[in-house]
Amino acid sequence: MQSAVVHYALEPLAVELRDIAVPEIGDGDVLLRVGAVSVCGSDVHQAYNTHSWTVNVPVVLGHEFAGTVAKAGRAVKGFREGDRVVSETAAEVCGECLLCRTGRYNLCPHRKGFGYGLDGAMASYVKVPARCLHRIPDSLPFEVACLAEPHAVAYNAMCVNSRIRPGDSVVVLGPGPIGLLCARMAALAGADPLIVVGLSGDAPRLETARRLGATRVVDAERERVEDVVRGVSPLGADLVCDASGASRPLDLALSLARPDGQVTKVGWSPDLVPVNINPLVQKNIRLQGSFSHNYPVWERVIHLLARGVTHPKAIVGLTTALDGWREAFDAMHEGRVIKSVLIP
Ligand SMILES: [Zn+2]
Ligand SMILES: [Zn+2]
Repeated sequence: MQSAVVHYALEPLAVELRDIAVPEIGDGDVLLRVGAVSVCGSDVHQAYNTHSWTVNVPVVLGHEFAGTVAKAGRAVKGFREGDRVVSETAAEVCGECLLCRTGRYNLCPHRKGFGYGLDGAMASYVKVPARCLHRIPDSLPFEVACLAEPHAVAYNAMCVNSRIRPGDSVVVLGPGPIGLLCARMAALAGADPLIVVGLSGDAPRLETARRLGATRVVDAERERVEDVVRGVSPLGADLVCDASGASRPLDLALSLARPDGQVTKVGWSPDLVPVNINPLVQKNIRLQGSFSHNYPVWERVIHLLARGVTHPKAIVGLTTALDGWREAFDAMHEGRVIKSVLIP
């Protein structure tokens, strides 16, 4: 048996630490001894029942994790006991559809992820299909490697689904973990000016944004975002990334983008809101959604983490054992920390 953080019902605060069986693995799986698992905004959303995706309760939470292979199934090639790895999140995909066959399995209609579709990693052990694994260097600690997943979200949004050239003006709406990592990726890609927008309650996060490369931060409750952006980019921004996790700021994003600019939306909510989409046409804007990530993105991100260039520790405010999960979730929910990490 093992302890696990289990989301057990579709109602608010239906999460608790439970004793469950260590999973049995199939021939193509490994049993992973979890070294570290970071708490995602989506884990917190599930805990408060404010998520916008289908959850198979009861389910063990946690999809951002790294660890050691404890046991490898008979058909597993390339990984064996003792290997240090991170895991992608697409725990189940069909393997047959156009998207799977072209390496974009993150968009497979049959995709199920760890932590909502299948048991995740907020436990001592998790069952992982070997195709999800990536080796990590010995120099990369698990509590940093587990951040590969949100890094991959940000890399895919800013460096694959958006185009940034050195000197492009980039605006990031929402300084949560994903927004901050999107800002960091934009900075690495050469964005300048790089403006990160938050609310008054986001003051510490906006300070972190500066450390991650923002040339200007905006408290949207005290300054007009439009004025700040037009002050540095009179035509509007080359790229606006909406990482707010809400639906409404799409309006603002479309108004901030320059003619022939881009808007990339990463992060979503169940809210349906009226949006003025006319600027999309009038300004010839490219509106792009960004979801999840795939193999080449992970390889890049692991390299960046190993090189330390993304300053991953800047976003981690709390590291605790598994039984401290509640405080880890609350601290994120209440905005006291940007991100928490659990060490099972
Ligand atoms: Zn995540
Ligand atoms: Zn598929």
